[in-house]
Amino acid sequence: MKITAVEAIICNARMRNWIFVKVTTDQPGLIGWGEATLEWHTRSVVGAIEDITPLLIGEDPRRIEHLWQRMFRQHFWHGSGITRSTAISGIDIALWDIAGKIADMPCHQLWGGPVRDWIRTYCHLGGGRMEDFYEISADDAKRFGELASVAVEQGYTAFKSMAVPPTAPITGTKPIHRAVAAVAAMRDAVGDDIDIMVDCHARPSPAMGLQFAKALDGFGLYFFEEPCWPEQIDGLVRITQTTTTPIATGERITSLADFRRLFAAGGCDVCQPDLTHCGGLTAGHKIAALAEAHQIALAPHNPQGPVSTAASLEFGFSQPGYIICESVHNDVPWRNDVVTEGHSLQEEGRIVHPNTKPGLGIEINEEEIAKHPFEQELPQIVFYEDGSVGDW
Ligand SMILES: [Mg+2]
Repeated sequence: MKITAVEAIICNARMRNWIFVKVTTDQPGLIGWGEATLEWHTRSVVGAIEDITPLLIGEDPRRIEHLWQRMFRQHFWHGSGITRSTAISGIDIALWDIAGKIADMPCHQLWGGPVRDWIRTYCHLGGGRMEDFYEISADDAKRFGELASVAVEQGYTAFKSMAVPPTAPITGTKPIHRAVAAVAAMRDAVGDDIDIMVDCHARPSPAMGLQFAKALDGFGLYFFEEPCWPEQIDGLVRITQTTTTPIATGERITSLADFRRLFAAGGCDVCQPDLTHCGGLTAGHKIAALAEAHQIALAPHNPQGPVSTAASLEFGFSQPGYIICESVHNDVPWRNDVVTEGHSLQEEGRIVHPNTKPGLGIEINEEEIAKHPFEQELPQIVFYEDGSVGDW
């Protein structure tokens, strides 16, 4: 059995170009699908996939760990930079899809069988509609409350918001009060039984992140995400140790060694590896083992396309520490036209029952994808009040 082709297929979904990875074999009809979406880096990732492809053509797709080692370690430069790591991840996910199809079982069955009966999902405010999630003003507390109510009406028991505005390294208390008002509005709107998450997008400095975390500590957030840059492990440790709210991070980490450093330092309570960036499902299992050793929960980052979601769910059905699946359903209205999913969604409670089809359980409609060719992604850029550059 041999790999005969590796293709990157782009599907523009407004703010993101979904990059689907199709690995073809010499066995009739046997292909695998992965995803390597990296917003605003689309051409770079497509180029990285082209650079890696010569390592794979003619190789046995069943040797997944061996091929992962080749992709990561050969060509001299280790594959933990975000572009190469995303390319590796997309290919690795496709290889696991192939492995499941060969075995005629879902991936989670390959990995020891389901460890739970269903998986809870959470949404972004607005279902992932860019304007409702990323562009809502932290001044507009009322709007946060309205969108929170909509999420609960749609069946969700948990949702995520971006209630922490961009702040310069030290910004005073005005943005703190805004964040508190926004979270209070959401809590008032949905009551105490719904789980609310706040994603800081690593906008704050450690000093500001600590202030936000302490100010929001009394609202019982499910988790408080990226309160400072992921590089600032000391800052994450300080925030984690100072608050009772579980602290989440990890979506931008792409090497096993960096996950180990984060866990060993006590820098988070919830780990959010992105399976399309961290080295795919092969790396995901190693990260999960490290997390389990520290009793750190797993909630993989997943705002991208439908192959990423399928990979996260297969992973979640195999991982005891997996607590919830991030999901996006309203980023583009034709999302369900490009994919047929193997898992089944129960609208009440927005829980997912296991896929019963081989591999990731998905079918991709390439004719539908062709209707949405590459476009430059819509920009999301931040400047502070004085014109200096901020973090999105
Ligand atoms: Mg995030």
